Order: sequence, then structure tokens, then C-alpha cells
Amino acid sequence: MPASLGERLEELRREVERELAAADSPEDVEEIRVRTLGKKGALTREAKAIGALPAEERPGAGEVVNAVKNAIEASIETRRAALSDVALRARLAEEAVDATLPGRRRGQGANHPLSIVTSQLLETFRRMGFSVATGPEIESTWHNFEALNIPAGHPAREEMDTLYVDADHVLRTHTSPVQIRVMESQRPPVSIVCPGRVFRADDPDASHSPYFHQIEGLLVDEGISMAHLKWTLTEFVHQYFGPEVKVRLRPSYFPFTEPSAELDIACQVCGGGGCPSCKHSGWMELLGCGMVHPAVLEAVGYDSERWTGFAWGMGVERVAINKYGIPDIRMFFENDVRFLHRFRGR
Ligand SMILES: [Zn+2]
Repeated sequence: MPASLGERLEELRREVERELAAADSPEDVEEIRVRTLGKKGALTREAKAIGALPAEERPGAGEVVNAVKNAIEASIETRRAALSDVALRARLAEEAVDATLPGRRRGQGANHPLSIVTSQLLETFRRMGFSVATGPEIESTWHNFEALNIPAGHPAREEMDTLYVDADHVLRTHTSPVQIRVMESQRPPVSIVCPGRVFRADDPDASHSPYFHQIEGLLVDEGISMAHLKWTLTEFVHQYFGPEVKVRLRPSYFPFTEPSAELDIACQVCGGGGCPSCKHSGWMELLGCGMVHPAVLEAVGYDSERWTGFAWGMGVERVAINKYGIPDIRMFFENDVRFLHRFRGR
């Protein structure tokens, strides 16, 4: 005797329950649903077969099929929800973020000591009325030498250990060509300071580097004398190093100034009493200076009978070495963060 509709459906329901229990993903559940309730599903086939039954049996058969269909749908939904929940929790566990871990701290930078000293020096001269001018690092030999009263064959040209780019261009050996460029483009009065990097064919050691930084100054006007030079630079030293610091001028020689001088300040290590840093002289050389040579004024088209001026130049590294007691010029360029961090917050 063939199994009744009710028996077949009950068997189908139990089979589906077993399969659902064995399913371990929402995709498995969907596959069971299609196989059972889909267009060609097992239960759908039973429902379609009702149409072939005698008319009086159809309502009863329909009820039985609907009851089993509802039961299976409910079981499928329950299992799908349970598996989705498990999948979600597994994903959350995998992607978990521990918000209690400390963050990765980004190191805080600091200004380079040469930048600090340069901006301090420029600020001091700005307060005194000088404006800042800059120029190219690759210069014509005219701007670097001839216009500064250093003609070809002049010994100063050899002493500078110049790096040539070609026959007519050099890596500038000083920032003085900026003074020439400003005077070529501007009538007096002129009062400028020129910061920048300069280059020499020097082998690096504790006190030499193939590149270093200068700040030069220039003032040209009517009636400017050595007295203005001395007052301006003494005032600068007192503002930058302190009002009590002693200053002296020593005669010197530069091709582009006449007369020329070196300006010394009392040793910042021993205060002037004498120590190894100042070779027991009590003095430290700070800068070179002098009255602008008439040949330089004439080279830029200024009437040297009417206009006079003074100029000076200093190495930024030397100022920083004196101010912070740094023993080796190479430390400025090695980018060792232990050294650079000493200047944080300055
Ligand atoms: Zn000293």
C-alpha cells in the first residue's frame, strides 16, 4: 500500500529538519529552501499534485500541505537567523579592535639649530631696519668675483677653493653676489641682509665643511662712515649676545672692502678670561667687515664720490658654535636626531 500524502509530507518535514540541523552556513539553508520550497521543490510538487486528486479530497490535502509548508518555512527561518548570528559574531571577533591599546605616537619635529640661529639673526637685523634679500646658489663669475673687485688671477680667487659649474659659473663661494644683484637693480639707499648657503672645495673636518651658511649685510647711503659700521655691529652684538659683551675691531684685508676689519667678541665660553676654546686670548672671531670698496660701487653703476657704505659677513655655523658650544661643524649636517632634539622648543 502506497504511503498516504500525510505520511509522505511528515517524512519530508523530518528530512528537512535533519538537513537544517546539519547545515552550517546561511548558504546551506538557502540551498535546502530552494530544493524544498522552490518552483521545482519537493513540497511544491506535492502541492501541484493536489489538482489531480478527486474534488472531494482536494480541500483536506490542501490543508495538510499548507500546514507542513508553514512548519518547514518556520524551521528554515529559525535556522537561517541562528547561522547568520554565528557568522556575524565570528566576523566581529575576527575584525575586533582593541581600543585600549595606546596609539602610535608620531615623533614631534624641531627646528634645525641653523634655522633657529638664522631666524634669530635676521630678526635682530630686521628690528634695526634691514630687509632680507636672497639670490641664486649658482652664480656667474661676474657676480661672485669681478663685480666684487676680485679680477681673474687675484689670489683671493684661488684661496676660496671655488667649485666651478662651467667656465663662467660657480657654486657661489659667499653670499656677497646677492649684494651686487640688489645694487644692480636698486638705487641707494640700500640696507639689506642676505642669508644663504655657500660652497667651497674643502675636505670636511671638525671646522670645515664643503657647504655652510652665511649672513651678509650691506648699507649704502650718503655720508656713511666707519663710525656707522662700528655702532651698527656693536649694537647687533649687544642685542644678540647680551648688552655686556665686549667688542673689538682688528685691521684685516678683503678685496671688496677698504678699510677692512675683523670683529671679535669676548669669548662666550670663558667670558674673556682665556680658555682652550679661545686659545687663551679671551676673544672669539665673529665676522669680517669693512667700508665698501669704491670699485664695487662703480661696478654696479653707483657714483662712489657721492655714495659710501659698509658691509659685513658672518658664518651662521660659527655663530651657532659660539652660542651653543658645539664642538664639530659636521654635527649640523649629520641629521642625528639625538643632536637635533637638543634644540626642541627653542
Ligand atoms: Zn675663552
